[in-house]
Amino acid sequence: MLTIAGLATARGLAEGPVYLYRGDDDIPVSEYVVPQGREGDEFMRYKKAVGDVGRDLESLIAVLNERNKGGEDAKVFEGHLMILEDPILKKEIGKLIVEQRVNAEAAVKKGIGKFRKQFERMNDEYFRERVRDLDDVERRLLRALLGFAKSSRLELTEPCVIVADDLTPSETVQLPRHLVLGFATNGGSTTSHVALLARAMGIPCVTGLGFVTQKVKPGMRVLLDGTAGTITVNPDEQALADFAELVRRQHESEAELKDGLKAGTLKDGGQVRIFANIHPGVAFGALKDMGAGGVGLYRSEYLWLNGGKEPDEETQFEAYKAVAEYVKGLGDDAYVTIRALDIGGDKTVRGITVKEANPFLGNRSIRYLLSDREVFRRQLRAILRASAFGRIQIMYPMVSCVEEMREAAVEMAEARRELDEQGIAYDRDIPVGAMIEVPAAAINAKAIAKYCKFFSIGTNDLIQYTMAADRSNEEVAHLYQPLNPAVLKLMQHVLETANAAGIPVSVCGESASDPVIGILWASMGADMLSMSATYIPLMAKVLRRLTRRDLDEYKAFALGFDNGETGDEILDACRKWMERKVPELDKLLI
Ligand code: PEP
Ligand code: MG
Repeated sequence: MLTIAGLATARGLAEGPVYLYRGDDDIPVSEYVVPQGREGDEFMRYKKAVGDVGRDLESLIAVLNERNKGGEDAKVFEGHLMILEDPILKKEIGKLIVEQRVNAEAAVKKGIGKFRKQFERMNDEYFRERVRDLDDVERRLLRALLGFAKSSRLELTEPCVIVADDLTPSETVQLPRHLVLGFATNGGSTTSHVALLARAMGIPCVTGLGFVTQKVKPGMRVLLDGTAGTITVNPDEQALADFAELVRRQHESEAELKDGLKAGTLKDGGQVRIFANIHPGVAFGALKDMGAGGVGLYRSEYLWLNGGKEPDEETQFEAYKAVAEYVKGLGDDAYVTIRALDIGGDKTVRGITVKEANPFLGNRSIRYLLSDREVFRRQLRAILRASAFGRIQIMYPMVSCVEEMREAAVEMAEARRELDEQGIAYDRDIPVGAMIEVPAAAINAKAIAKYCKFFSIGTNDLIQYTMAADRSNEEVAHLYQPLNPAVLKLMQHVLETANAAGIPVSVCGESASDPVIGILWASMGADMLSMSATYIPLMAKVLRRLTRRDLDEYKAFALGFDNGETGDEILDACRKWMERKVPELDKLLI
């Protein structure tokens, strides 16, 4: 038996066999000099791999054409076939092997790498998109040369715990939810997009486990504790019994919420609104049971990630309408805040996002929408149309300056004009707001507020950009501090600015779901906390043990540090404060 500790990323318990997943991006390639006289054999090895990959592609194209003659998906692979057989590329790789005696794997990487650089330099969208195709062909060739399985697609046949180096958001959304018991990854952090997906899907997840992929074998039995952040491999009798006891205590702890008290109700009857973060593709059904008062963040970009391309206006309209209609059942004052396409960074879509040197600082989110106005207007039209069927707010992601709000307003006016002309109904008072997740927007909140009916603070990104620490990189996780004094000051500024401007302000980053941090945001002026639905019961249990006066006291305590304390020290002190007020906190966190 072996227990490994990592980061508690999505709460919950899972027990089951391991599915060991080797991602696409971690194909290790070493470079070596082929012994003299063996370059011919090495070249044949490359030729054989080209033949194998070619045959695979041809049969894939045949299957796709059978399903959908002339469809776009088959064309993608026809393009791959052309790259594979490209005479200039073949010559380049051949020369490396035969003349420089580079091994086939390294030659493939180098040859394709040279093409990739040329494509990336081109000022033409078409060629920049082809870079993704080069990546795909490279992986296929390397897989063939190294004898890996042909496809890295997760092919699950029974419920299991997925153990991987890391997963991309696109890989995660394609999983059959009913067969995934839990996630355990070497890398990642608690706020990477995979972590958020696991939370939204209600799947226990432990990240930052280091070398877990080397410690397990397919089919091995594991116990995953997403709340404690551990994975136990080959558990003994005692570990199994302890785990069963944890499961029993979890059920018992959740039973206290069955008294009908609204989630977010304080001990003195006061109320903190608690909404849910969701994305398309996840069933809404559980939101009501969990106590969500509405949907505070609808991550619309998953319509793009799920389909691998832009969904047409009709598809978007149906999706937005469905959630608008659903939230009506969550109460009279319920609504859904639909976030406009937040693509880029680690959320990539083939043919839409392009490779950038610094994707997190690149053409993402509102910047992307303003650079492709047609896409933006199609989405605005779809959201506006859906607003005739239920209460919707719309917000723009990654706003950094007033100019973006002005430009977005131009597109919004145009979308409304088009609908008016066509006589299509929509909510004429639909509230439009901004996500505050870039330090520039936080600092300049007063000016941005002039263009907004509400703010929603995205702490996942706000912390990342304030601390200049990648939210998904475990190497810099120590700098990713939600209560670093700089973050606290920005939060205080934004919350006070919104309160003074008289506009509602919510927090929808993951920090909102941690009772120690989320309750601090509420005490500092957040009107609403939005979080993955599975975290709502936990927040509700802690809030019902506190009064408004407690919250005022907590705010004064947390904002009172002014003597060179670190973010971790402040967090620690806040945790202790909360444990004093709610002595059973530890038990509630199960
Ligand atoms: C955030 O940045 O806090 C946020 C809610 O957006 P996302 O996590 O989707 O980037
Ligand atoms: Mg964000």
